[in-house]
Amino acid sequence: MKFGGTSVADANRINNVAGRIAEAKARGDEVVAVVSARGKTTDELVALAHEVSDRPDPREMDMLLSTGERISCALMAMALHDRGYSARSFTGSQAGIVTDGTHTRAKILEVRADRLREAIASDHIVLVAGFQGVSTDRDVTTLGRGGSDTSAVALAAALGADVCEVHTDVRGVFTADPRVVPDAAKLPRVSHEEMLEMAAMGAEVLSLRSVEFAQRHDVPLHVRSSFQREEGTWITKETPDMENAIVSGIAHRSDEAKITVSGVHDQPGVAAAVMTALADGGVNVDTIIQNVSEGGLADMSFTVPLDELRAALAALQGMEEQLNYRELTSDDQIGKVTLVGAGMKSNPGVAAKMFRTLAAEDINIQMIDTSTIRITVVIARREVERAVRALHDAFDLASEAARRDNV
Ligand code: ADP
Ligand code: ASP
Ligand code: MG
Repeated sequence: MKFGGTSVADANRINNVAGRIAEAKARGDEVVAVVSARGKTTDELVALAHEVSDRPDPREMDMLLSTGERISCALMAMALHDRGYSARSFTGSQAGIVTDGTHTRAKILEVRADRLREAIASDHIVLVAGFQGVSTDRDVTTLGRGGSDTSAVALAAALGADVCEVHTDVRGVFTADPRVVPDAAKLPRVSHEEMLEMAAMGAEVLSLRSVEFAQRHDVPLHVRSSFQREEGTWITKETPDMENAIVSGIAHRSDEAKITVSGVHDQPGVAAAVMTALADGGVNVDTIIQNVSEGGLADMSFTVPLDELRAALAALQGMEEQLNYRELTSDDQIGKVTLVGAGMKSNPGVAAKMFRTLAAEDINIQMIDTSTIRITVVIARREVERAVRALHDAFDLASEAARRDNV
């Protein structure tokens, strides 16, 4: 059972979650609960680091950020003790979550869960601080934002759990972010492939790595509410009926920027040089477009996370002589809207309908990117939410979700 930040934000909510954990234990389940930092704790710790340093050292950042989860975990154990349950809290390191050494976005290499198994065998409720592990160099690491989901799935896989329940502040995975689309509907089931695309394109309800992990290790994943008892959304293997829904969900993100390198030579090796410079600068490049302009010159545009824009521009400025580009421009006011659906594979016309809908809203498309089950457009950030609502209406997603519920 994993509980997110909002679900443990204050003493009342910690007690509510302790009640949910106790209920499961009383039913006879063996319970391992992973908890996130309370409320906005992680954001506050990040801000605090930037108050004392312009470029906080990543190793020390992990020491700092990992404390948020540790606090929740100890408090949860205390709340369970008061209900008469024996509970033991563990840091990521104590839980045996071994990662690589990439501070602030470490990858889990292995889970050595012996200590947790012993605690479970001794009939304790086991509590684990999410979002963190220990590197092979024995340093504390964190797993990237939203990383407690990944901790939970990794532990579920290592322990051979029957299910990994991700408890959060919404009732499941919806057809779109319910904060943006008030009539978004809960999806009863979503395939791994769809969920991967949704998570990658901005649906923060599950972290991308947690979905990858669940798919690779066959962990049954159930996203549900911390506050209500109803069934949420199951993330499962794709079944044939899932293809009936052409579009199942819309994801969006507003924290992106676009860079254009114009007037580079249209010859082999240029794109490679641009991308190598960015990779060396630690920049994650997404959607890439290249087009040939006049006189054997080409323009390259691509998107990067907003908080990596400065590093990206610095890397490219350092290449000015080598690349001999005419101009380097950027736009920090963009966002992305993505339609996802397993049925897109076999149904033409989705792109046409998507673009018609945006045209009717007078929204200009700057870039387009697709996979077999996804279409993404880059548009102005201020138009993102309007685009999401218009598309949700046009594809009638609320009724689509209800239809899925009935199969
Ligand atoms: P937690 O703190 O429990 O990890 P998060 O804030 O990380 O919770 O994720 C839950 C939030 O994800 C919801 O409050 C919701 O606003 C947002 N969200 C975005 N897209 C979706 C979606 N398709 N379905 C459900 N929630 C979504
Ligand atoms: N507390 C961390 C974050 O905010 C991890 C998590 O909540 O999953 O990103
Ligand atoms: Mg989260």
